[in-house]
Amino acid sequence: MTNRKLRVRQAQTIVPFGVGAILETQGESFVAADTGRWYLAKSEVVESPRLAARLKVSGFRSAPAAKNDFFDNDKAAGVPCVRFPEWLFCGACRRMVRWNNLLEKPGHPPLCPSCPRNPALVPMRFVQICPRGHMDDVNWPWWAHSRPKVAAQPCGGKNEHLSFLVDDTSMGLEALRVHCRRCDSGRDLLNLLDHKSTHCSGKHPWKRGSAENVCEEKALVVPRNAGNLYYPVTCSALDIPAPEDSGGPPLDPAVVDRIREEHHLWQAFLSAEGAKRRTLASMLADDAKVTEEELFILATYETGQELPVGREGFAEASSHAEELSREEWEALNTRVPITEKNLVTRPLSWPEGRTAVQELLRERFEVTVADRLREVRTLLGFSRVTPSLNSLVPVTGGPRASWLPAVEVFGEGIFLSFDEDLLAAWEAEPSIRERVAGISWELGQAFQQERLLGVTGPKLLPRMPMLHTFSHLFIRQLAFESGYGIASLQERIYARPGGRRHQAGVLVYTSAGDTQGTLGGLAAQGAPEPLAETVLRLLESGSWCSNDPLCSEHGARGPAALNRAACHACTLLPETSCETGNTLLDRVLLIGGNGVPGFFQPVIEAALDRAARTARGQA
Ligand SMILES: [Zn+2]
Ligand SMILES: [Zn+2]
Ligand SMILES: [Zn+2]
Ligand SMILES: [Zn+2]
Ligand SMILES: [Zn+2]
Repeated sequence: MTNRKLRVRQAQTIVPFGVGAILETQGESFVAADTGRWYLAKSEVVESPRLAARLKVSGFRSAPAAKNDFFDNDKAAGVPCVRFPEWLFCGACRRMVRWNNLLEKPGHPPLCPSCPRNPALVPMRFVQICPRGHMDDVNWPWWAHSRPKVAAQPCGGKNEHLSFLVDDTSMGLEALRVHCRRCDSGRDLLNLLDHKSTHCSGKHPWKRGSAENVCEEKALVVPRNAGNLYYPVTCSALDIPAPEDSGGPPLDPAVVDRIREEHHLWQAFLSAEGAKRRTLASMLADDAKVTEEELFILATYETGQELPVGREGFAEASSHAEELSREEWEALNTRVPITEKNLVTRPLSWPEGRTAVQELLRERFEVTVADRLREVRTLLGFSRVTPSLNSLVPVTGGPRASWLPAVEVFGEGIFLSFDEDLLAAWEAEPSIRERVAGISWELGQAFQQERLLGVTGPKLLPRMPMLHTFSHLFIRQLAFESGYGIASLQERIYARPGGRRHQAGVLVYTSAGDTQGTLGGLAAQGAPEPLAETVLRLLESGSWCSNDPLCSEHGARGPAALNRAACHACTLLPETSCETGNTLLDRVLLIGGNGVPGFFQPVIEAALDRAARTARGQA
């Protein structure tokens, strides 16, 4: 057997293989250990002062060259990981082995000690997790003895002489059985997944040996690749020019006075966090007759951004995302070229002598090309079972982190800034409000609501699913035309409600991982003429889906019923490209239909008209 190399690309060490995630590779299964195990001497500092200030951490580090002596060579970049699950079985003799570090042989997978030809062992498919983020092996010795045969002499249940048997005469989980070779007890896996009586062991796989707090939660048995096994909480920031220091809050002094007059509310707002802070913001804005944006500006000025945060949860992560996005939107939406080290932008203008279609597009959006941008992406922690507010496990596995793991990504992008008046008029249409109210209601019920708040802001505006769907179709079309793979393109949707002005933009950019250079193909696609053609083609492909009429006529669908007319065939993207986990998508908002006016419907009609006239001209 040759030495095998297991490695994770550095760009993957935040998502999908961040702390607490399961890594499957070449038939082996590992879990990425907490940052307390990082070999800091080999990790590099990643600079992002804006992100650090927002998250109240001292800084960021990228994953070190791995020093997982057992599993890899120590020159490969990666995160330290431990083998998980520990329980493995042999596909030939069906014996189960509880693996441990002493059995590891560098460069080799675990091999069956019983079979003459030593085949590689296979990890057990099921593990147990709990809502507080713990994860452990299923207690197989206990399971095998939980239904002792009446006739046999039970061996006491501690026995680890187990086999994992397959019965060819039955199907599914009933056909799989964990069996004790000592006492002949055993149990099939039929009720394993809905078995409710097992307690959580209170452990993380990389801390098996240490005494952990007792966990009161019931354990849930799931397959290793289950969707609810791991919910990472990430945050990212683009490098933008530092705001000018004007020496005072950039506000009308009358506004500042009105806010300070509401002394008690103002103090409460400054010390509140998460959802409470948002509620207080809206009360205070009403009372002082100012906008929420003005409140946040003054708060940032007065407190130097040191607004207190509690235990990091999804709500806090959402409010960080919201504020980071507010700053980016303001920086990108200036229509002034930026030439910073890590952000180079060029606002483009539409040519004179526009066609009817180009004129309709110009009314809808303006284009800024980013020839260079840099993004720092960090992992705050993770949860399991549900992405819930209080269950976030910090990346340290214990106390709140003073620094966070991060990766930096260089790329290029296209930023579209949409016309506020046109959007507002479109959003005022009763049929649009009604359609989006349905999505908004589902969002209120959805378990991802906390998670999505960072993208939607406190209120879902109709432009959000419309711009989001546009972004998806744009990415699909750009990937086709620019030579980038879909998975290397990313989106940022700017569609949150704001005080004076709502956000109204889409940034599509490359995240080429560790490389500094980019293909340059994306920025070239942003010039008005090729862009107009790209948009036309995306609208054309968005008008039709191979799953129609089902796709466009079906009601609520997708994760937590948060999508309307959108499916894998027409709109969805790889998870890593999407800000919302492929939710809040609806082609009808773009192209129209079912009595709903699409935002781009006039463009499509003009294009059809053009095509018809061309055809007549040729006839
Ligand atoms: Zn064997
Ligand atoms: Zn036994
Ligand atoms: Zn637990
Ligand atoms: Zn579809
Ligand atoms: Zn998306």
